[in-house]
Amino acid sequence: MAAVLVIEDNATNLKLATLLLTRAGHTVLAAADAETGLTLAHLEKPELILMDIQLPGMDGLAATALLKQDPATAGIPVIALTAMAMKADQDRSRLAGCDGYITKPLRYQELYAAIDTLLVNRRVEAAGQQPEPHHVPSLFVREETTVDSPARGPGPPPVDVSMLESLVGSDPVVILDFLTDFRASAQLIGTALLAACRSADAVTVGAQAHKLKSSARSVGAQALGDLCERLEAAAKAGRLDTLGVLCPVFERDLHLVLAYLDARTAVPPAVTA
Ligand code: MN
Repeated sequence: MAAVLVIEDNATNLKLATLLLTRAGHTVLAAADAETGLTLAHLEKPELILMDIQLPGMDGLAATALLKQDPATAGIPVIALTAMAMKADQDRSRLAGCDGYITKPLRYQELYAAIDTLLVNRRVEAAGQQPEPHHVPSLFVREETTVDSPARGPGPPPVDVSMLESLVGSDPVVILDFLTDFRASAQLIGTALLAACRSADAVTVGAQAHKLKSSARSVGAQALGDLCERLEAAAKAGRLDTLGVLCPVFERDLHLVLAYLDARTAVPPAVTA
């Protein structure tokens, strides 16, 4: 079991990683930006670092390069976490010095397999032997998988909870906790996003859409996550016309998701005598 530093700015994703790691018996240190993460890496010398690539300020690739240039931290394996699953991003993360690469949302089997491989290699190295050379590169060849939701009739539910179950397991208490958390953050972010739409503030729309995108996908709100991706792209391109079309769709989808979560997470009313 190891001390693992997670550098991740998205609260839902951090919570997911923390849950999966502590469940496997690891200790978790967390940082929401690269600068804090670098400081913690120096102070605490974790055995492994999970590094989100898209971070506010310094990105995860630059942070990894700094860790690998410094003899004090160069030996700590770094697994890049990213929503981008393109070959070019794998190459960039490898060049920056990352030892492995996992695409989000985190699937627990994959995370555990990556951690086991890297920790075993590191212990073999520490014992003065050469690690199995194929182990680490194998972390880079994972093919992007799309989230395949089971075929349904017309009108799939706005949140596919089986997606979340595949990430964290099916403990109803854990699922309820994630859904409740996600509902609160989706409402906050959605409200800010819609206000920014109304005032034609593309920068804020883009930032809020980015935030909601990956947490929506983590809990199985795939359509809302996809819509956030389109909003983010339109905002980055400064396409106010496209935002004008997408924002009402977002508002409708957000309400569908919130209503669905309300029904899923409702606490039965107390029986009054
Ligand atoms: Mn991020």
